Parts: sequence; structure tokens; C-alpha cells
Amino acid sequence: MQLTRIVDLSRTVGPRTQAFPGDRAPSVERSATVPVEGFNSSAVHMSSHSGTHVDAPFHFLDGGQRLEDLPLERFTGPAVVVDATGLPDRAPVTAADLEPWRNRFVPGAAVLVRTGWDGHYGTPRYFDHPYLDASAARLLAESGVRCVGVDSPSPDSTPHGPHAPGDWAAHSVLLGAGAVIVENLRGLERVDFADPLFMALPIRLSGGDGAPVRAVAARLD
Ligand SMILES: [Zn+2]
Repeated sequence: MQLTRIVDLSRTVGPRTQAFPGDRAPSVERSATVPVEGFNSSAVHMSSHSGTHVDAPFHFLDGGQRLEDLPLERFTGPAVVVDATGLPDRAPVTAADLEPWRNRFVPGAAVLVRTGWDGHYGTPRYFDHPYLDASAARLLAESGVRCVGVDSPSPDSTPHGPHAPGDWAAHSVLLGAGAVIVENLRGLERVDFADPLFMALPIRLSGGDGAPVRAVAARLD
């Protein structure tokens, strides 16, 4: 078996990374340069939920598993790309919408919900994305799926402002089941080959509510 292709599904992390409402954009400052210190190095300041990243159960549950508690297998698996494109702003994706892929929702699978909303990245409309309703999240959790990705900022509807109340049904159901959630994926339409392997390994960040990942789909022939 040979790795013949890697599709990058990740966002660039930097000052122009679109931050979730109420969060701040990352900063990357040069802290050493070749002319002065003899090498280039940078000081990075960012949210643990910057760019393409994973949420650990601890993100919403104080007693939940932290990144460092989770086996790396949780962040990888055969990718199942669900087509949920063509929906209007802030529309729910329901269990009925997921039905055609249901027999592929098995323990170990990584279910990636493609809404097409990555096309709105960098604009306010990015936060008016479709979301997984409670029935969809329950179907995934009850099927044994423990890795769910979205090409939008959240599997839940994003609140209308930084301090507006949110309905966190998808986060609650999925993280409550011990699943991890990968947010801000991009380019899922390029996962167009048979048996893609998804990988989104987080940096080994202590504190562990979430961390940036390099999310990829790999082709093995
Ligand atoms: Zn997050």
C-alpha cells in the first residue's frame, strides 16, 4: 500500500484567520531574525479554537476528556463525506438528511459534513452556516461515530452576537458521547476518490479543550 495523494483540508492560521464571534484572531510576530539572532523564529498568540481545529469533550464538559486524554485514533478514520450543500442560511441538517450515508456511520469512521459554507469564509455570512440539529447529532453518536467534521465554524448554529445565547445541541450530544469535532474544514469537494483516510491530529497542547490541526484526506492505493 502506498500513499499517493494528500488533500489539505485546513485553513491558514495567522492574523487574517476568521475568528469566532467574541474570540480574537491569532497574531504571529517575528521574535528573532537571521540578521540579528542568526535564525528566524516567531511568537504566536492564538485561541485554542483558531482556524481548522478540534474540540475535545472538555470544551463543553468540565468533567469531559481533554485532548491529552484521547487516543490519537479518535482523530483519524475512513472519511465519510456527507453532501449537505445547497441549504439556505442557518438551515438545520437533520437525521433524515443524513439517511443516505447511514450504513457508513460506524465506529472508527470520520463523518465530514460538507455544507459548502467554506465558500463564505472571510465574510460575515460564514457565521450564517447550516448546522446539525439534535436528531442528526444523535444519529451520529448512536451509530458509534466519534469524529465529526464540518466545513463551517461550528456544528451548532452560531449565536447572533458574541454574548447572545446559543443552542449547543450538537456540541452537547457529540462531545457528551466522547466524540471530537473538527471545525473550519475547507475543500471537502476535493475528497473525490475511493476510501479516503481522514486525519486531523492536534498539537499536544496542555489544557486540552481544543487545538489547531492539519486536517487532511489521504489516498492509499
Ligand atoms: Zn472549537
